[in-house]
Amino acid sequence: MTPEELARRRGLPVATMHRLLAEYQFALTDEMAAVLGDDPANPIAAQFLPDAREFTVAESELSDPIGDAPHSPLPSLVHRYPNRVLWKISPTCAVYCRFCFRKEHIGRRGTALRQVEIADVAAYLTAHTEVEEVIYSGGDPLMLTTPKLQQCAAAYRDLAHIRRLRIHSRIPVVQPAAINDALLTHLSDLPQSLHIVVHINHSTELTANARAALRALRTSGALLYSQTVLLKGVNADAATLSRLINDLLDVGVVPYYLHHPDLARGTGHFRTALAEGKEIVRELRQRLSGIAMPAYIVEIPGGGGKVPVNELSAEQEAYLNKLGIW
Ligand SMILES: *Cc1c(COP(=O)(O)O)cnc(C)c1O
Ligand code: SF4
Repeated sequence: MTPEELARRRGLPVATMHRLLAEYQFALTDEMAAVLGDDPANPIAAQFLPDAREFTVAESELSDPIGDAPHSPLPSLVHRYPNRVLWKISPTCAVYCRFCFRKEHIGRRGTALRQVEIADVAAYLTAHTEVEEVIYSGGDPLMLTTPKLQQCAAAYRDLAHIRRLRIHSRIPVVQPAAINDALLTHLSDLPQSLHIVVHINHSTELTANARAALRALRTSGALLYSQTVLLKGVNADAATLSRLINDLLDVGVVPYYLHHPDLARGTGHFRTALAEGKEIVRELRQRLSGIAMPAYIVEIPGGGGKVPVNELSAEQEAYLNKLGIW
C-alpha cells in the first residue's frame, strides 16, 4: 500500500504519513489486506495502518518496555526464567502491529541472525542443561525459510534436555500460505514436542486460509495456543473477545495469554484502564467455558516479567498506574 493510499485512508496529509512511516515501520500481507475494508475503525486497520496518535509519546514509554536487555547472555537470546530461553531468530515480521513492544528492535532496526550466533546459541544450550524449552520469537520466527529454520534447530535438536520447542508467531494467521509442506515436515521431524502460540487479536483475522493453516499445524502434531493483546479500538470488550476465543477453540487453539499492552512508544491510544480490563475479564468468565479462559497478564517494566493482573500487589498496581500502563 502506497504512502498516498495510507494517507487517504487515515485522512492525513501525505507528508504526515511519510513522517509516520519514517518513525514506525509498516507492512501488510495480502491475506490481511483482503479483510481490511474501508472503515478506518476496522480492527485490521486499527492494528496495522499507521495512525497519527502514534506521535503522542508518553515519558514512561520505553524503547525496551519489558526489560529484555539485562537478561540477554547473547544478542539473540533472552534467558529470564531458568527452564526456558527466548530465541529471537528473525528480526522481521509479515505485518507490523502498531502496538508492538519490540518495535524499536525489529524490521529495518533489527539485524538478521548470523551463522556464528547459531553456533554460540548451540554452545550456550549445550552448557545450560537446566533449559528444557526453546522459544522461537522475533520479530516473527516463521519469516525464516525452512532451510534457515533447520540451521537453527541444529543448535538444540540433539540435546536430550531440550524437551520442547515453542514458536510464537503471527504467520499462521496473517500469511497462512507460508505454512507449507516443507515447513510442516521440518517441524514434525524434530524430536522435541511442538507448541505453537499464535498471536491473534480479532476474529476478523481468522480467515478460511488461516483456519486451514492452523488445522495443518495441528495435523502435523503441534499443540496450538493463542495470545491476544487487549486493545482499545480493536477488541476491548467481552463480546468481541469471546467471539474470537470461541472461533479459536473451533479450530483447536486453546487461549493462553491476554496481554495488557506494554509501554511501547506511541501506543497510549490502545490502553484500557485497569478497572476496565478487570471488568472485561470478569465478564469473560461468565460468557466462556472454563477451558477457554486466557490469563490476563502484564509485563512489569524493567525486567519484572509477566504477572497475572489479579496477582499484583496494591503497590505494583499503583506503580504501573503511575507509569501510565493503565
Ligand atoms: C514471555 C517470555 C517467556 C515465556 O513465558 P511464559 O510465561 O512461559 O509464556 C520466556 N522468556 C522471556 C524472556 C519472555 O519474555
Ligand atoms: S508480529 Fe509480533 S513482533 Fe511483529 S510487529 Fe506484531 S507484535 Fe511485533
